[in-house]
Parts: sequence; structure tokens; C-alpha cells
Amino acid sequence: MADCIFCQIGSGKIPAEVVFQDETVMVFKDIHPKAPVHVLIIPKKHISSAADVTKEELPIFAHMLEAANIAAKKEDIPSAYKLVINTGASAGQVVMHLHMHLLGGKKITSIV
Ligand code: AMP
Ligand code: ZN
Repeated sequence: MADCIFCQIGSGKIPAEVVFQDETVMVFKDIHPKAPVHVLIIPKKHISSAADVTKEELPIFAHMLEAANIAAKKEDIPSAYKLVINTGASAGQVVMHLHMHLLGGKKITSIV
């Protein structure tokens, strides 16, 4: 999607601090970090939100978790992190391209 910021990051048109990528996913640093480690995991294919993931796209979703674990190791938090997927505007999703937040590096408390 031409006007989607995360599609443009995924294709390299907009720069980002990339932690890991392959042909399916990209992991890059959040521009406004909420924790010492705060990276975003995106599929390179445009999927609007977790609610829009089809059965056929489930392998992409699984691959995002694999990429999160690779990034967690690279960022030195291999076994202590929080994954967050805001889904829908009323749940806090601002960028309408599926992304997982990987947060860690300090004790993180929240509603869950
Ligand atoms: P969400 O509220 O779940 O949609 O989260 C969107 C996240 O994207 C926020 O944490 C923003 O700080 C982050 N973000 C927006 N634009 C960029 C960008 N160009 N590079 C890195 N992170 C971004
Ligand atoms: Zn997109």
C-alpha cells in the first residue's frame, strides 16, 4: 500500500533502525521508545491488523514471533519481554499495518 508508512519502511523507501529482516518480516526500533528495548515486528506484506489475519496468513504471524525471538536475543533480552499488538483504533492502534511491539530491558507493568 503506497500510502502506508510501515509498507514504506518494509520496502526500504523510508529509513528505519533495522534490527532484523528477511523476505517476510522486518524488525526495527520504535521511533518513540517506551522501554529500554522497544522494537516493532511487521510483516512486509500489508495486513491492516491482527483482526484481519487470514488462515492462509497464519504462517506469517508465526514468523513474526520467530523474528521477535531473534530480535530479543540480539537486544540481550532473550527470555524476558512483553509483546503487545494493539488492534483497532479504540485499542490504541495508530498505524494500520499489523505490528507487534517487543518491549523489555526493565520491569514493565501495565494492565495485563
Ligand atoms: P500503535 O499505537 O500500536 O499503532 O503503534 C505505532 C508505533 O509506531 C508507535 O509506538 C510509534 O512510535 C511507532 N512509529 C510510528 N512511526 C514510526 C517510524 N517512522 N519509525 C519507527 N516507529 C514508528
Ligand atoms: Zn502497510
